[in-house]
Amino acid sequence: MKCPHCLHAIKPNVETISVVPNYHNNSWDAKAYVCPNCERPVIILSQQVYRYNNWVISDEHYVFPKAISSQPLPEEVTDVVVVSDYNEAGLVLADSPKSSAALTRRCLQYILREKVGTKSRDLADQIQEVIDEKILPTEITEGLDAVRNIGNFAAHPQKSISTGEIVEVDPHEAEWNLEILFDLIDYVYVRPIRFQQKKENFNVKLSEVGKPEI
Ligand SMILES: [Zn+2]
Repeated sequence: MKCPHCLHAIKPNVETISVVPNYHNNSWDAKAYVCPNCERPVIILSQQVYRYNNWVISDEHYVFPKAISSQPLPEEVTDVVVVSDYNEAGLVLADSPKSSAALTRRCLQYILREKVGTKSRDLADQIQEVIDEKILPTEITEGLDAVRNIGNFAAHPQKSISTGEIVEVDPHEAEWNLEILFDLIDYVYVRPIRFQQKKENFNVKLSEVGKPEI
């Protein structure tokens, strides 16, 4: 898991106290831990529902801190559509994973259409294009494939057709979507600019010693 304060991947000792053991197949636990990295406390109220002979987490409310920090976008990202969807998806993540995931998917669709050049109308098919044509690096493609599997797009392809549709997701799935979006933004918007800057700096050095530019 990731610390909501410092965003480091951590394996904390989580103390769990049952607050409401069973109320009409719903139960609530209070969970608390201290992040081993930043040493700040984290308190979560976790709700579970009893489904198919199992207790599954249906919702996690962050009590402290109130929201999970999302990685801030690098300054190279100036596309207002991307900046606004990404930031909002991060802001609502703790309170509404569903809304966060809907914003993330909308933003992924936009980038895949406008910057990656996919032609399909809905996200599941856009991701299939990326997989078939090997347009993006393997780790991003695999991440997108996992996004597609979240909310059972594969089992219910009709669910994925309209942009911004609300699909059942848990908080970790919504967080995963946001991380994959960050990776895609980094690849599409940030890396080309940084590479260009590197090249320009290198060319300055080359010209100083009288060598041809690359
Ligand atoms: Zn931390």
